[in-house]
Amino acid sequence: MNIHPRRVHLGICWFFAGLSITGVVAFSADALAAPRPNIVLITLDTTRADRVGFLGSKLGLTPNLDALAQHSTIFTRAYAVVPLTTASHAAILTGTFPEFNGVNDFGKPLPATVPYLPALLSEGGYHTAAFVGSLVLDPIGGTAPGFDRGFATYDAGFRMRRKGEDRFQAVERRGGDVVARAIKWLNKRPPGPFFLWVHLYDAHDPYDPPEPYLTRFAGSPYNGEIAYTDACIGKLIAALRQAGLYDGALIAVMADHGEGLGQHGEETHGIFLYDETIHVPLLVKMPLGRSAGRRVESRTSLVDITPTVLEIAGIPVPAAVQGKSLVKTIERTAASPGNLKSAQSEARGGSGTAVPEQPVYSETDYPRRAFGWRALRSVRTGKYLFIAAPNRELYDEAADPEASHNLATASPAISDTLSAQVAELHRRFANPVLAIPTETDAQQAEQLNALGYVSSGSSTAAESKKEEGADPKDRIEIANLMHDALMEVEDGRYEVAVPQLERVLAKEPQMTVAQMQLGIAFARLKKPDQALPLLRSAVQRQPDSGMAHYELGLALFDTGDLQSAAPEFSFAVAHAPRWADAHFSLAAVDARIDRVPEALAELTTALELNPDHYRANLLRGRILSLQGHTAEALPDLEKAARVEPNSVEAHLFLAEAYSQAGQQEAAQRERAAADRLKAASHP
Ligand SMILES: [Zn+2]
Repeated sequence: MNIHPRRVHLGICWFFAGLSITGVVAFSADALAAPRPNIVLITLDTTRADRVGFLGSKLGLTPNLDALAQHSTIFTRAYAVVPLTTASHAAILTGTFPEFNGVNDFGKPLPATVPYLPALLSEGGYHTAAFVGSLVLDPIGGTAPGFDRGFATYDAGFRMRRKGEDRFQAVERRGGDVVARAIKWLNKRPPGPFFLWVHLYDAHDPYDPPEPYLTRFAGSPYNGEIAYTDACIGKLIAALRQAGLYDGALIAVMADHGEGLGQHGEETHGIFLYDETIHVPLLVKMPLGRSAGRRVESRTSLVDITPTVLEIAGIPVPAAVQGKSLVKTIERTAASPGNLKSAQSEARGGSGTAVPEQPVYSETDYPRRAFGWRALRSVRTGKYLFIAAPNRELYDEAADPEASHNLATASPAISDTLSAQVAELHRRFANPVLAIPTETDAQQAEQLNALGYVSSGSSTAAESKKEEGADPKDRIEIANLMHDALMEVEDGRYEVAVPQLERVLAKEPQMTVAQMQLGIAFARLKKPDQALPLLRSAVQRQPDSGMAHYELGLALFDTGDLQSAAPEFSFAVAHAPRWADAHFSLAAVDARIDRVPEALAELTTALELNPDHYRANLLRGRILSLQGHTAEALPDLEKAARVEPNSVEAHLFLAEAYSQAGQQEAAQRERAAADRLKAASHP
């Protein structure tokens, strides 16, 4: 094991600093003996800086975070790199910008060659565990491939909703559930230092906190989600205290991005780079109370988290890391508590000499990838926020914190300088060897739509016009409408989604994703005459979109045109080979056009990808049962009945198979179950 002189030095510092600052802190023997502190990283999804008490909110939503803040260094001006969950977390956990790590949007795999905090800590002897609250950070079935690198435990396991399920059974997990899983792990963890990442998704829309927050915050459910999240953090902190782990641990808390809530016209997040979605809360509680109660007023970026954690853990920071450790900034602030200026002017120095505050760079590629508009890039430097856009924007943040007076035309020289600076940062952060894949696959596109994000599973629309496209601020209404429509489609309220999508298409007739979603809505409403032309047009416009082919296949299947549906599903399967639903749909067609061996092969693939696929279990079990292969059929049908216990079909097919196998008692039980379900649905 390496002993890093720097860490030994810091360890002694913490010890004395802890004594001198907090005086009465009772250090556990464990914490003093441990050469490496335990590390807890808490990421709060969609949490605005102006909602937390420790940054001045008077709403009283965050008593637990505020208590933690008293033992922490507070960063009053911390900024997200990207206003989107997956990309922002990639920047937090790699210490690099999207230009380098390649995760500039959902679904982009995190390359194995990019430094990754969990992997570095794991190699450094840490036990690593992640507990995440959303499909969007699921490395296996979701849109965060590669995020499980270095984690011994990565607790995700999300999937698309089945009919009748709510979101919390499939695509997300409430904070209370996430924290309970994390505490369970804490209490059973192996000996030695640990890195625990807890991600709380609750504040992400739709805003529907559990009781009593739902009632208490009936007028502002977003605030209710923040208050609920804070209560969950309280439980985690209490568990850490109870286990004697709190004082000795490094605890870092931050939001991945904020939320528009209508400011600058943006309802949620992802399109713009203003403070409401980029300014985020950030707390760092050093081990043993060191630097408690300090405020760093200089700008910091979430790209600085990885090098900071590595330095505190005594692990060398890889040269590729682009953020700067905040340890020196924290130390300077702690050393001169009455003089915040020193931290401002000497911020972000790595060498111990005073350096000027560095510019903070942020970007979003979502407008381009989702809508074919222009990607946005920004820099915050001096008193300015500059946003590179077709109509560029310059704000004096000191005089105009709301960013409501664009000074770009009045101050062309400053704008030119900052425009060049943004371009230079974008160039400087690029990865010379990484080829960033341009496509999101069809399955990921479907998942993103379920969470309200626009994706067509195609690259043809956006990639061709890299630096062209409309200014997102001229189109924000369309982004809001699309988001709402996608949520309505996901919740099965197709009749609500139809007029919304028609309004989008009235303003932007060429928007393929809107055509496709309108086609899907009509198809689900059993209006094939309206659905088919839209879906055909979507396929024509984006011939490489697996999702468009899949949805056209479904609509054709519903009309009984199986011969036409088959090639659409074949395309989807070829294009997204890991998409279980596409394999199932192809099998369902094959089974009906006398291609039974092909159907069985597709079903087997679907079940390899997702062993709990209800319809695939049901169909394979039924086919095998009809073929007389009862022994093979039974496990499939039993699984189908277990996955969907309220399915009359599953119980009836199972009854028949049991009967065939001579198990009359079991057959009777299943028939009775089917009868009960039928009676319950037709009282
Ligand atoms: Zn997020």
